[in-house]
Amino acid sequence: MHIGFIGLGNMGAPMAHNLLKAGHQLSVFDLNALAVDGLVKAGALPVDSPTAIAQGNAELIITMLPAAPHVKSVYLGENGLIARSRPGVMLIDCSTIDPHSARDVAAAAAAHGNPMLDAPVSGGTGGAAAGTLTFMVGGSAADFDHAQPILAAMGKNIVHCGDAGNGQVAKVANNMLLGISMIGVAEAMALGVALGMDARTLAGVINTSSGRCWSSDTYNPFPGVLDNVPASRGYSGGFGSDLMLKDLGLATEAAKQVRQPVILGALAQQLYQSFSAQGNGGLDFSAIINQYRKDT
Ligand code: NAD
Repeated sequence: MHIGFIGLGNMGAPMAHNLLKAGHQLSVFDLNALAVDGLVKAGALPVDSPTAIAQGNAELIITMLPAAPHVKSVYLGENGLIARSRPGVMLIDCSTIDPHSARDVAAAAAAHGNPMLDAPVSGGTGGAAAGTLTFMVGGSAADFDHAQPILAAMGKNIVHCGDAGNGQVAKVANNMLLGISMIGVAEAMALGVALGMDARTLAGVINTSSGRCWSSDTYNPFPGVLDNVPASRGYSGGFGSDLMLKDLGLATEAAKQVRQPVILGALAQQLYQSFSAQGNGGLDFSAIINQYRKDT
């Protein structure tokens, strides 16, 4: 299939590479020319604007952009993807944005005769490179069925979450819980160590007891408890604290719009905001444990 791909950053580039590997023909655009070069070397066709992608022969267009303002600027407006695409061309936005913006863009697409899915991902850059991302997809069942084989070239779990915007709902709810659980594990690990316990022994107890969760048994924030996690390499790589801050902001903002209390989510957002303000936004989000440890 001929696919248009816009946004070739840390996530978009490896996703686009996997589409090429699966035999699709790709037209690509990014504001960053270097990002485009990498894909062109692998066989993609460079295009000089989102408008040019929309006016080309792509049967489906995928975007992977930083945040809602970028998504709106690429999709909406008189030179946007929606206005310039042929009706019937499917649009898939994989960026993480708030559910309300996703629904607004999907409604504009529907009004122009373009089926649209929101399909944010989890799995990070490692999952994007390995083609093992989880896609949380919002949109009609028929559009989901149409897109499923394309998404399967980039991911392992492709989940239909319901109507437009529900992919983003699943993403913000999951990541809010992840932020809260990471802070909880950090607090418990730091307490145990401050009270004299060995970190590995404590993690072993937690991971076979009722406190166990992904943040404790797969991504433990205490250095040396697990190999091959950011905590054991100076909190480099992984999922940046600023990205967690962004996702917690999306969750608290979305909650405000439906008057839904997210007390721990808001607290987690403030903790990451404070952590980021101290210059730690580039560290992996498990580094939040440094707010608690007395021995650092
Ligand atoms: P990134 O900043 O590395 O890449 C974004 C790309 O979009 C950049 O190459 C940038 O030049 C391009 N871009 C920005 N505005 C553009 C425009 N108007 N037209 C064309 N290109 C434009 O970001 P990323 O890490 O790839 O993340 C992309 C999305 O995926 C974000 O919404 C992020 O929250 C989400 N996400 C990221 C991760 C992760 O681990 N990095 C994991 C899950 C989800």
